[in-house]
Amino acid sequence: MHNAFVRRYLWFLAVLVGAAAVLALIVLPLQKTAAVANAGYNVLARLYLYLLFVLFIATGGVAMFALFPLYKAAFAPLASYSELPVFELWLHIYKVMWRSLTNQQYRDMYPGKITDPPKLNTDRSLVTIKKTWQGVSGNCDACEFTCCQKLNCPLFGKNGRCLGYDSIFFKYFYCGRYPENQAQIDYYDCPKWAMRNF
Ligand code: SF4
Ligand code: SF4
Repeated sequence: MHNAFVRRYLWFLAVLVGAAAVLALIVLPLQKTAAVANAGYNVLARLYLYLLFVLFIATGGVAMFALFPLYKAAFAPLASYSELPVFELWLHIYKVMWRSLTNQQYRDMYPGKITDPPKLNTDRSLVTIKKTWQGVSGNCDACEFTCCQKLNCPLFGKNGRCLGYDSIFFKYFYCGRYPENQAQIDYYDCPKWAMRNF
């Protein structure tokens, strides 16, 4: 009975690892060439990250250490291995999962569809700059990255450099898409962006 359970669990993990590896082989090389409007590619990119999350949960985070290159490719492809605070990342993923499970307001802030295209920068068709903003118009320098610090994000590197920039996580899930609605602006108390009035 006990052995059967362990066997099934190991099979389950093997299938997940195999699927994540196959998706990595498809998704990662095509990152720069797949058309932004290619809904099929967008679904695969998100599935890749979902699989990594499921593996993380199923192994208590051990998968992140065992398959670190797959996780790094999804979360921080431009950072060097030595720059990444691995244990803080491990803890941070638990915090984000806990927040997502227990905080309805947080879940409701990210209503995107699985086919939505990636975004690398704030979408100016959705937001405008607040009249009270004193900093430059093109980036967030004068803000000192309130949202990253409020999150205590382990990918917030030295000199305010984002170690997760250009990753699948960044483009498809959170930061590259921020802000897309008023709830996100309010949650992070963003001093710069305001939603456009349509
Ligand atoms: S809180 Fe707003 S202005 Fe500040 S870093 Fe984040 S997005 Fe930029
Ligand atoms: S933009 Fe900020 S919150 Fe997002 S991954 Fe980079 S450092 Fe972390």
